[in-house]
Amino acid sequence: MADPTSTPPPGIDLRDITLGYGDAPLFAGLDFHLAPGQCTCLLGPSGVGKSTLLRVIAGLSSPDRGDVHCSDRQSIKDRAAWMGQSDGLLPWLSVEDNVCLGARFRGEPPDRERAERLMKDLDIGALGHRLPATLSGGQRQRVALARTLMEDRPIVLMDEPFSALDAITRARMQALAAHSLTGKTVLLVTHDPLEALRIGHHIHVMIGMPAIIEPALRPDGAPPRALDNRRLLDLQATLLKRLAGSKDWTA
Ligand code: ADP
Ligand code: MG
Repeated sequence: MADPTSTPPPGIDLRDITLGYGDAPLFAGLDFHLAPGQCTCLLGPSGVGKSTLLRVIAGLSSPDRGDVHCSDRQSIKDRAAWMGQSDGLLPWLSVEDNVCLGARFRGEPPDRERAERLMKDLDIGALGHRLPATLSGGQRQRVALARTLMEDRPIVLMDEPFSALDAITRARMQALAAHSLTGKTVLLVTHDPLEALRIGHHIHVMIGMPAIIEPALRPDGAPPRALDNRRLLDLQATLLKRLAGSKDWTA
């Protein structure tokens, strides 16, 4: 049988997603699409449902109604790498063993060379033998990022992957991730409009309760886009207005 991880990255369609906790529905008949082989960024205020939607796509939460499927009708779960909002590092394993966790779970020998290369690129190369408890928040987040990129899956779902990083490290990691994720079907949740503009092909704002997802903004050029691109700063203002719920996006 063909290796499900070696198929071309599919598009992902969400149809009629309805889900609520308690009385208030988070989603009521929500439709959404992730373009194949491209990076879609989802921005939105805290509590709007971004992480919940990511979990629904990953198959970690079930909607009350509606469905999620790949354009090629194959499973998402077998082909997706996931990076949750909390780093999920196993405290009893070293940094390097955390990075190689996927192979360990599958009972395969890990590709140590690849792990070392990734850790070096992410500036955690000297931390391989340390335990997670001895790391800073930003270092832990880069270990989680390395573990996600280590999987080399056609679908990558990431929840605020750079939120714990300082500005300079964040800019470098965004560029690195954008290169590593080229050609994959990616959904990246972030609260940072400039981050979305740097690395997204399609940038959506999620807002309201029940949540709606605004049509995509599609900046020119290939990610990662340069931070001194003036057009990005104009689009950042547009996105901030959308996030603030402005009715007049051109104002
Ligand atoms: P975001 O990621 O946009 O900040 P979340 O998807 O984490 O938002 O949460 C959206 C809303 O759903 C929040 O009000 C949160 O409290 C609620 N929520 C999320 N998960 C659960 C759960 N398992 N049980 C009850 N409420 C939940
Ligand atoms: Mg969240």
